[in-house]
Amino acid sequence: MTDLERKHDRAPVPRDWTYAPAPESREIVRLDERYGHFVGGEWLEPAETYETISPASEETLATIGQATREEVDRAVGAARSAFADGWSSLPGSERAKYLFRIARILQERSRELAVLESLNGGKPIKESRDVDLPLAAAHFFYYAGWADKLEYAFPNRAPRPVGVAGQIIPWNFPLLMLAWKIAPALACGNTVVLKPAETTPLTALLFCDVLRQAELPAGVVNIVTGDGRTGAAIVDHADVDKIAFTGSTEVGKAIQRQLAGSGKKLTLELGGKAANIVFDDCALDQAVEGIVNGIYFNQGHVCCAGSRLLVQESIYEPLVEKLKRRLETLRVGDPLDKNTDVGAINSRMQLEKIQELVAAGEEEGAEIYQPPCRLPEKGYWFAPTVFTNVAQSYRIAQEEIFGPVLSVLTFRTPEEAVEKANNTPYGLSAGVWTEKGSRILWMAQRLRAGVVWANTFNRFDPSSPFGGYKESGFGREGGLHGLEPYLRFDE
Ligand code: NDP
Repeated sequence: MTDLERKHDRAPVPRDWTYAPAPESREIVRLDERYGHFVGGEWLEPAETYETISPASEETLATIGQATREEVDRAVGAARSAFADGWSSLPGSERAKYLFRIARILQERSRELAVLESLNGGKPIKESRDVDLPLAAAHFFYYAGWADKLEYAFPNRAPRPVGVAGQIIPWNFPLLMLAWKIAPALACGNTVVLKPAETTPLTALLFCDVLRQAELPAGVVNIVTGDGRTGAAIVDHADVDKIAFTGSTEVGKAIQRQLAGSGKKLTLELGGKAANIVFDDCALDQAVEGIVNGIYFNQGHVCCAGSRLLVQESIYEPLVEKLKRRLETLRVGDPLDKNTDVGAINSRMQLEKIQELVAAGEEEGAEIYQPPCRLPEKGYWFAPTVFTNVAQSYRIAQEEIFGPVLSVLTFRTPEEAVEKANNTPYGLSAGVWTEKGSRILWMAQRLRAGVVWANTFNRFDPSSPFGGYKESGFGREGGLHGLEPYLRFDE
């Protein structure tokens, strides 16, 4: 290189405005080669195993146990002993101390857990760092506060713990769903057997180390890993008193059938096909941000994702144009890069499901838009996608895609918006964008959805109950309501 060329190379103005890579270091996470099941405070060597991978690179991260019926039985036995041996009769203020400790340790180790969450699940580090981890800690803090106030939460109803809770969680928010399940269960004096999803077991396994640090008595929380067969063994176990399940509507229905007549308590948090409804008087740019957050957050792997955009006809064109322009700025790629907006699809199976539904959308006549973006060669990826020209009968408007795919429909009047929004077997969430407070209230009263967000989307708070209607399930998690499924009452 000549002197002159070197000078040019050091030009102060960058050639373009793309972001430089900003990868978060993996060094903070120390992975074992092999993990067992966490039963009775100890690691149980698994009889059967499988490998867990990083969906962004397809590299194997560790060997994981595939819990058999016998191993599930040991976990339930350990939970039962811990329940009888003192946990259920411990004063609430003592239980609270453990929950507070867990919350503090989650905060202290949040970077390590966030990196591991992104590595194993594919979600962008800025989401696991700024959303999953703070919310998981907040959940433990929140329920720690209730542990010694159950008599006040349910006056004159003599609340008592249920017993052993079997908890089965999905892969989209592995640690956060663990917190949603374990925190209220423990606050109410129950013990737990939890199964993380097959594809994302690692943060649940690292959480066992958090429990060790917090000196939680052995057997109060037991973690068994494996696929649906392990989940079915937990549901089936005669000594489990309550099942809490988050996952697909299909499996949820099967569990409900299986438990009918068993006397076990059950809560189901299932799928959704939320309408995000945009009126012509809204702040348009803000709404575009809300739409993007509603469907591309966590690659659209969100049960309450705003996957159906209902736009008032008069602003359809400017809104769709702004949305497409915004999509061009989304950065898809390495989940561990701090600039990444859309990470990897969680598994090959999920990618195939998204591809199948997107192909169905094109075949049925919807118009597809994907911004130009280069997807990495290895791993599972899907570009942010918008479908316009969508009819309500299309599969992409009816079925849960659980990917970064938005279907745009239009409406003219508020009545039509309500009609279309409720035209789904699901009922988990909805969004309303308008400057009129009265319209927000009018809509919220008519939308058949467990959560209605106004001029925002995908906001969560541990004090706010979350759950569905219709095929989105029943029971609430979060808030005072989230205690009830983990209690029995003398009535
Ligand atoms: P599943 O409902 O199969 O998985 C949820 C959890 O249940 C996982 O831990 C799973 O284990 C376990 N499980 C599977 N079968 C059984 C069974 N018979 N008895 C007890 N537990 C069982 O969801 P998928 O992961 O298969 O995803 C399929 C679709 O479900 C997605 O495309 C999406 O549409 C929807 N979904 C919705 C979620 C939500 O939050 N509402 C979350 C996840 C998925 P394993 O990991 O081995 O499958």
